[in-house]
Amino acid sequence: MRKAIYPGSFDPITNGHIDIIKRAVKLFDAVIIAIAQPRHKKPLFSLEERIYLARESLKNISNIEIMSFDGLLVEFCRKLNIDIVIRGIRAVSDLDYEFQIAWMNRKLYSNIETIFLMPSEEYFFLSSSLVKEVAMLKGNIDNLVPKVVKEALIKKLNLG
Ligand code: ADP
Repeated sequence: MRKAIYPGSFDPITNGHIDIIKRAVKLFDAVIIAIAQPRHKKPLFSLEERIYLARESLKNISNIEIMSFDGLLVEFCRKLNIDIVIRGIRAVSDLDYEFQIAWMNRKLYSNIETIFLMPSEEYFFLSSSLVKEVAMLKGNIDNLVPKVVKEALIKKLNLG
């Protein structure tokens, strides 16, 4: 059984993440959505909230499992005995950073392969941070996140 891990902070999950997950489940028997603490910033949503929003948003996709992890991704991969990491690549701006991470993960665990997937073009520039910013300014995010995420953002940002 071929399994892959799709790690990220998912703060919150967007249609861009979901697009990548739908592509990944076509390639693997199972995809673990691994939710971590963001590395450089305090998340808007708690870990439990991010897991809940991911679970609700991915209800219709089979062959996925949602987990959380702390610390090094490669250690989590080792623990689960999985050596394939999925990452999404948006515009070229992602490339440099994503290559650094993939390179370091390979240094730390030589068996790891990182697979980069490209989203549908409507999500080329979509990020969780941009969604949060637009939501805060009361912009329309209907086509950018699932309904449950939109509602959670409105509640969290006291926009109701
Ligand atoms: P991180 O905090 O590790 O950057 P994110 O939750 O922001 O994690 O994203 C997880 C992964 O999903 C990253 O590989 C990121 O590039 C990718 N990703 C996020 N949004 C999109 C999108 N709109 N299209 C394609 N990939 C995306």
